[in-house]
Amino acid sequence: MNEIRRDTSSLIDPFGRRVSYLRVSVTDRCNFRCVYCMSENMTFLPRNDLLTLEELERLCTAFISRGVDKIRITGGEPLVRRNVISLFKNLGRHLNGGGLRELTLTTNGSQLGRHAKDLYDAGVKRINVSLDSLDPAKFESITRWGRLDEVLDGIKIAQDVGLKIKINAVALKGFNEDEIDTLITWCGEQDYDLTLIETMPMGEIDEDRFDQYIPLSVVRERIEKKWTLQATDYETGGPSEYSVVGETGKRLGFITPLSHKFCESCNRVRLTCTGQLYLCLGQDDKGDLRTPLRQSDEDGLLLNAIDEAIGRKPEGHDFVIDRPNSAPAVARHMSLTGG
Ligand code: SAM
Ligand code: SF4
Repeated sequence: MNEIRRDTSSLIDPFGRRVSYLRVSVTDRCNFRCVYCMSENMTFLPRNDLLTLEELERLCTAFISRGVDKIRITGGEPLVRRNVISLFKNLGRHLNGGGLRELTLTTNGSQLGRHAKDLYDAGVKRINVSLDSLDPAKFESITRWGRLDEVLDGIKIAQDVGLKIKINAVALKGFNEDEIDTLITWCGEQDYDLTLIETMPMGEIDEDRFDQYIPLSVVRERIEKKWTLQATDYETGGPSEYSVVGETGKRLGFITPLSHKFCESCNRVRLTCTGQLYLCLGQDDKGDLRTPLRQSDEDGLLLNAIDEAIGRKPEGHDFVIDRPNSAPAVARHMSLTGG
């Protein structure tokens, strides 16, 4: 355990919400190009602009000192960043009494075979793996070139080393809406929880989001015709609303930013790999933490900049997908801030 100096004051935003959850996108790059997330020809951030892993660790530690107790490493694909395991190892020292309650990860699963054991050893206990289809051809088309067998093998290895798995699937009209039952059955058999996500209007992609969007209220109605959804008060500190599927005993979560706003209970902020702190997934306002980080080896300037940014956290997002060809609500892709 690595005891850090804890500032007594928590991070409270202008709407009285305590910020206790930091998501860190360690790279905006990815080995896949999921059609709802990226266009095929993406311009990624210049490598020179990236913070080092040591700088990212210092930023995370500053947040922990101000009461952040959950950190999710994401991307882009976090496991394609070189040496990323060293970041997990160093952050893992803040677990078990050091201020951090949970260190976790969202991944496309393709690199889990190589990294699952190291992640577990670093203190990661649960991970989210994004998987939108169990059909190899469909999986390849949604990711533009991903291999389903590689991802399934990686998930299995992760489960075998002791990581609890939650599958994330974005519900897409005309693509996987007929596979939801299959996903629920498969997750039940494999002992995985499942969360369904509505597609969000972030960044230009090559398709029209209007054609992809299906409200989860519609998906849920269909699910309830076949499965028994039991109420549960389980929550992870994230935006998902959970039920338990009576027939499988596994949890089923719904993330519904468009059909049902979840902003009242927002406890999250998002850090990019260049040190920009986004205060809301659906708004452009951000705080620059890279400059104060590099200005001084002491954390004073950095902590002031964090406070100043949290003081501007907006009440909520304005996502809407209601007509063909509408522009994205925010220009940046999800991969910059990592979900
Ligand atoms: N590459 C990792 C992965 O796919 O899990 C982590 C980053 S990815 C951006 C995080 C999550 O955001 C994934 O579950 C992905 O499906 C979801 N996502 C990406 N773009 C989205 C969008 N426009 N609307 C809703 N979810 C999106
Ligand atoms: Fe990559 Fe994840 Fe975006 Fe797919 S959703 S392109 S795996 S960052």
